[in-house]
Amino acid sequence: MTQFRLAKRVATLPPYLFAEIDRLKAEVKAQGMDIISLGIGDPDLPTPDFIIEALYASAKKPKNHQYPSYTGLLSFRKAVADWYQTRFGVGLDPENEVVSLIGSKEGIAHFPLAFIDPGDLALIASPNYPVYPVATGFAGGEAKILPLTPENDFLPDLAAISDADWERAKVFFVNYPNNPTAASAPREFYEKLVKKARETGTILVSDAAYTELYYDEAKRPLSILEIAGARDVAIEFHSLSKTYNMTGWRIGMAVGNESLVKGLGKIKENVDSGIFQAVQEAGVAALTHGEPHAASARAIYKERRDVAVAALGKMGIACRAPDATFYLWCRVPAGETSAGFVSRVLKNTGVVLTPGNGFGAPGEGFFRIALTVGKERLTEALSRIAAL
Ligand SMILES: *Cc1c(COP(=O)(O)O)cnc(C)c1O
Repeated sequence: MTQFRLAKRVATLPPYLFAEIDRLKAEVKAQGMDIISLGIGDPDLPTPDFIIEALYASAKKPKNHQYPSYTGLLSFRKAVADWYQTRFGVGLDPENEVVSLIGSKEGIAHFPLAFIDPGDLALIASPNYPVYPVATGFAGGEAKILPLTPENDFLPDLAAISDADWERAKVFFVNYPNNPTAASAPREFYEKLVKKARETGTILVSDAAYTELYYDEAKRPLSILEIAGARDVAIEFHSLSKTYNMTGWRIGMAVGNESLVKGLGKIKENVDSGIFQAVQEAGVAALTHGEPHAASARAIYKERRDVAVAALGKMGIACRAPDATFYLWCRVPAGETSAGFVSRVLKNTGVVLTPGNGFGAPGEGFFRIALTVGKERLTEALSRIAAL
C-alpha cells in the first residue's frame, strides 16, 4: 500500500504525550485490573432531561432537517446574548457579536486561520489546552509559551514579556478558570491584560469554558468582556459542554469584538455548514432554563473536590482546593517526574491520572485529577493511591 507523505504541518505535530499512558492503560486492563479513570475532563453526569426533550421536539420539525444558517440560529445567538447579560452583565448584539460553534474547540482551532499570518506570534499561557499552539502552527504562526507556576499564581507574568514580543504578538491566549491548573484569574489581571493589549494591538482570546463550574458564589469567575475596553480587543470562547454536561452534543459560541467574531465566521462559512438546528434549539433551552441544573452539578463537584483534597493532603500530596473547574492540579512526590509517577500509579493501582507535562513543559512536576467519577469510585481510587 502506498504510504503518502504527510503535509509538514501534520508531520511536525508534537508527539502525542498521552500515547504512553494509553498503551499502559491497555496493558493494565489486559491483566484484569479494574481501571478507574481520573484522566478525562468529560462530565460523568447526564445531560438534563429537559434539554433532551427539547431536542426530540426540534428534531421532528422538517425545517430543521435542512442546512442550518452559517452564523447560527438567531434564537440561539439571542439566548447566548441574554445569558451573558444575566450572568455577567455584558450586553451583546446577537446579530454581530455572537457566532455559534460546533463546540468551542472548533472555534478555537479555526480562529488563527482568520487572524494569524505566517510568522505572526501567538503568546500562550501554559500548561495549556493543546489546541492553542497546534492551531497557531496550522496557520503558520509561531507560539511562545508563558509559564504558569505556583509562584505566579498560575497567571502569566505580563511584565516579563519583552516589548519586542508584545509588538509582534498578534494573539494572546488565556483560559480562566484554567484547564489544567484549576486556577482562576482576578479582575486586576484582566484589567492589566486588556490595557496592554489595547496599547499593542494584540488580540485577546479568552477561553472561558469553565466559568460555571465554581464553588463559591462570592468568587464567581468573570468574563473578560466585563472589563472596560475589552470589546476593543477580545473574543471569548464559551461552551455548553461543561456547564450542562453536553460534551457529546458539540455546541458552543464565540462572543465579543465584532471584527473578530466576523473574521472567524468567514473561515467557518468556507469550512462547515453550522450546527444541526435541533441541537441549537436544545441549546436555547439549556441557556434559558439550565441554571438550577448547573447549580446541582456544582454541588456534586464540590463534594468530590473536598473528598479528594482531604485524602491527598493526608498522603502528603499538595493540591490547592480550587475555586473553579472540576480539576485538581497536584505536585508529584519529590524526586519523581510527572510521567514516572502517573505510570507507577497506573501500573500498581489501575488509577488513571494525567501527567502535567502533557499540557506543555511548564506542567512538569504536576499531575491532573479530573473529578468526573462518582464519590465512591473517587474514594476507592484515592485509597488505592494512599496504599501505594
Ligand atoms: C472542555 C474544554 C473546552 C470546551 O470544548 P468544547 O469543544 O466546547 O466541548 C474548551 N477549552 C478548554 C480548555 C476545555 O477544557
